[in-house]
Amino acid sequence: MNNQTFSSLPLSPEQLKNLESLGYHTMTDIQAQSLPAVLTGEDVLAQAKTGSGKTAAFGLGVLQQLKVGLSKTQALVLCPTRELAEQVSQELRRLARAIANTKIITLCGGTPMARQLASLTHAPHIVVGTPGRLLKHLEKQTLDLSQLNVLVLDEADRMLDMGFYDDINAIIQQLPIKRQTLLFSATYPEQIQTISQRIQHNPVQVQVDTQQ
Ligand code: ADP
Ligand code: MG
Repeated sequence: MNNQTFSSLPLSPEQLKNLESLGYHTMTDIQAQSLPAVLTGEDVLAQAKTGSGKTAAFGLGVLQQLKVGLSKTQALVLCPTRELAEQVSQELRRLARAIANTKIITLCGGTPMARQLASLTHAPHIVVGTPGRLLKHLEKQTLDLSQLNVLVLDEADRMLDMGFYDDINAIIQQLPIKRQTLLFSATYPEQIQTISQRIQHNPVQVQVDTQQ
C-alpha cells in the first residue's frame, strides 16, 4: 500500500485533473513503482496481479509521448484476447480525455477486415490488438508502424501461454529498433525473463504482490 498522489509525476495539469475526475486519487502500488521509469522513457518489466491498475501504468506513458499533430501510429499495445484488448482501449480512451483528438483503435480477429481497413484510412495514434490480426495487417501493409515509439506487451504471460510467441516476434521484427518497450504481466514465469532479454534494453524491473 502507498498513498502517493499522481501530482508527484511529470504529468500535465489536464491529465492530473482528468485522473481526479476518474476517481484516481492515489496511485496503486504498481503505478507508484513503474510510472517514474515509464514516464522517463525507460524500458520497464512489470509484474503485478490482475486488477492492480496496470493499464494506467503503461497508458499514461503511452499518452504522454504522443504527438497528436502527427497522424502516425506511435504506440502499439499487444493483448492476448479481444475482450482484454477492448478493455485496454476503453481505459486508454478514458485517460486520453485529457488530450484532444487522440485516435485509438482496436484490431482483433473476428471483426471483418473491411471494417478495420476503413478505420485505418487515417492513421490512429494508438493501436491495441491481438497478435494474429495485427500480423495480418502488417503482412498486407495496411498498418504502418514505421513511426512507432512505444510497444506494450500487456498480459505477456497469457500471450505466451496462448502460443503467440512466434507472432509477437514477427511483429517486433517490423518495428523500429529505437523504441520504448513495456512488458506487463500478472505472473513472472521464466519465459517472461527470456522474452524480456530479447526485446528490451536494460529494463527497470518492478514486482509487486508476489505472494498472490
Ligand atoms: P490490471 O490490468 O492490473 O488487471 P486495470 O488496469 O484493468 O488492472 O485496473 C483495474 C481497475 O482499477 C480498473 O477499473 C481501473 O479503472 C481502476 N484503477 C486503476 N488505477 C486506479 C487508481 N489509481 N485509483 C483508482 N482506481 C484505479
Ligand atoms: Mg490488465
